[in-house]
Amino acid sequence: MTQLKRVEADIVIIGGGIAGLWLLNRLRQQGYAAILLESGTLGGEQTHKAQGIIHGGLKYALQGALTSATTAIADMPALWSACLAGDGVLDLHAVPVLSKQQYLWTTGGVGSKVAGFFAGLALRGQVHALARAAYPDIFQHAKFRGEVYALDEQVLDVHALIRELVCSQQDAIFRINPLTAADLHFNAAGELDALDVNTCLTGTINICAKKYIFAAGRGNDILFAARHNLRLQSQRRPLHMVVVKHDFPYELYAHCLGLGATPRMTITTHHSLEGKTIWYIGGQLAEGGVSRSAAAQCAVARAELAEVFPWLDFSAAQFAAFKVDRVEAQQPGSKRPDSFSLIEEKNYFAAWPTKLALAPLLAEAILARLADSDSRSGKADLRELRHLPVPAFAQPVWEQVFGMKEEGVVLCK
Ligand SMILES: Cc1cc2nc3c(=O)[nH]c(=O)nc-3n(C[C@H](O)[C@H](O)[C@H](O)COP(=O)(O)OP(=O)(O)OC[C@H]3O[C@@H](n4cnc5c(N)ncnc54)[C@H](O)[C@@H]3O)c2cc1C
Repeated sequence: MTQLKRVEADIVIIGGGIAGLWLLNRLRQQGYAAILLESGTLGGEQTHKAQGIIHGGLKYALQGALTSATTAIADMPALWSACLAGDGVLDLHAVPVLSKQQYLWTTGGVGSKVAGFFAGLALRGQVHALARAAYPDIFQHAKFRGEVYALDEQVLDVHALIRELVCSQQDAIFRINPLTAADLHFNAAGELDALDVNTCLTGTINICAKKYIFAAGRGNDILFAARHNLRLQSQRRPLHMVVVKHDFPYELYAHCLGLGATPRMTITTHHSLEGKTIWYIGGQLAEGGVSRSAAAQCAVARAELAEVFPWLDFSAAQFAAFKVDRVEAQQPGSKRPDSFSLIEEKNYFAAWPTKLALAPLLAEAILARLADSDSRSGKADLRELRHLPVPAFAQPVWEQVFGMKEEGVVLCK
């Protein structure tokens, strides 16, 4: 009879997106023997598709009302700035900031309404109207009839962020087959006793921890499948993102303001391995385009860009579109949660950051809950896990869509 291999640790984190990776860093810094299990690539499913915007709440305030979502996220730019300067809870000074600020621009027709909104809303001085001479190059054209504002919200290189969060933790990160509800073993009191990790190399390894933290995005659904507990349910809000590859030199990090609560388009700029400019586009285009085919979504994106930048010719640009879900804790009416969600049941947690920017707050909330328990021994024997592979890093989504043609991605010339 083969003996079941067993590993013990203080904390097991399931999921190597921003929530799991940030938490792993904070827990080990605080002396917990924590490990992270990932079934796909590092950077997760949602995280590496994020635009990298460290929101401070303006996006949520565009209708002119300060909601609890606005206030929950308002401190995030300062928290991240401290980390990026090497003075925060984590040292992220090596992570490149793609842009220190973003622009908000109006097209001719909506300028006055939006200007009135900014005048009436106290946003901690984060938004500044710009004089025309200070407009970024792309708006220095006679055909541009709108106005431009600057917004003090940074945009990060998400891939560099992931690498930075992984580099000092590699000895605690392991690639596994996707966990299923059948791999979770609960005792009669409803506590999670252990989970089984199956690998072709070593067979089944039984992992026991004092606490288990599920930060697996849509993978958190295995908890709901195992417990049928409505508190553990997630919700999905789909997006249809657009990627444009072109030769224009403009590094645009900007929201095009329309009359709705969501920017008409939110554009961030990246670079492909072959050195081309990539515009990665979300906003209302992505939220409102989920029922379109990829070809139709590309056509709408082309028309939108032609309308807002009539002085640019996009005929040589390549467009691609792909669908992705934002995964959050279930909310009444499937509304967007105001902040991160953390559900504690017995000795396990289900965690959803809601936004990449909120992952640090989520980690602090978990640390605060753990402080009351006796889950910190600092000791783990991980020898049985040493045969497990290390997960690979997720590729930038623009390399995937223009390179490998994943399922669900349509390239549009
Ligand atoms: C298109 C898009 C753009 C966004 N832009 C921004 C932005 O600019 N700013 C911002 O603040 N937020 C943004 N967000 C939101 C942000 O990306 C997410 O809130 C955040 O990345 C979620 O991180 P996570 O770690 O919870 O999940 P994920 O990144 O999804 O990671 C979950 C991980 O768990 C693993 N996993 C799943 N199931 C299992 C299993 N059964 N066993 C083991 N492992 C498993 C997955 O492989 C994955 O690696 C954006 C989201 C999307 C979709």
